[in-house]
Amino acid sequence: MRHLSGEFVDAHCHLDLYPDMEKVAASCETAQVATLAVTTTPRAWPRNRDLAAKIQLVEPALGLHPQLVADHASELTLWEQYLPEARFVGEVGLDASPRYYRSFEQQKVVFGQVLLACAEAGGKVLSIHSVRAATAVLDMVEQYLPSSKGVVILHWFTGTLAEVKRAIELDCYFSINRGMLQRPHASRLLRMIPLDRLLTETDGPFTHVNSRPCWPTDVVDTLVRLASCLGRDQAFISEVVQDNFGRLLVSPQRDS
Ligand code: MN
Repeated sequence: MRHLSGEFVDAHCHLDLYPDMEKVAASCETAQVATLAVTTTPRAWPRNRDLAAKIQLVEPALGLHPQLVADHASELTLWEQYLPEARFVGEVGLDASPRYYRSFEQQKVVFGQVLLACAEAGGKVLSIHSVRAATAVLDMVEQYLPSSKGVVILHWFTGTLAEVKRAIELDCYFSINRGMLQRPHASRLLRMIPLDRLLTETDGPFTHVNSRPCWPTDVVDTLVRLASCLGRDQAFISEVVQDNFGRLLVSPQRDS
């Protein structure tokens, strides 16, 4: 079995979108941040897979981002070709914000096929985008990928309290980033989530700290804020998050 467990967890980061991907990946190892390298197109899979093979704390994820579906839906075929190589899938999901709403129906078709393919393959862990589409995402997860067939991580989830409750009932994990901790009622919402469903993430380089793009190492700050939001000890939450991610990294077919 590979040992990927670091001291920190960035469960959603776009390593391939930084100017120097290798440098950022190396920082994950130096700072002991176990990082899920999500991708926006399956064309990026080989590059991420090959990098992850060299860096112990980086795990690649096979994605087709909902914001790209309008122009890249045909890449679903390539996504399906690579799926047998991937344990982690992402970034996938739905985006109903004004800019992407035109492709919403097409996004649903693609996301439905992604979920079905994952259910059929079994043992996949998905990092899912759900901007302005929490209910639609949960409806589709419930319909196509019950928890017996795969694991869902809701990335940067901004649903309502009722939607959080429903996601918990569907056994979803939540990867928490800085932005989520700054929302009104963040503390109330986060305290609803069972501890064994909590992860941390940066969504770098799309998020910023001190006007520079977040790196995976910035997840340390998110962890500190999350612990304080939950009123728990930082070391304790750190261990909880490591355990949770560690569980997702282990699968029978991967043991060797
Ligand atoms: Mn992202």
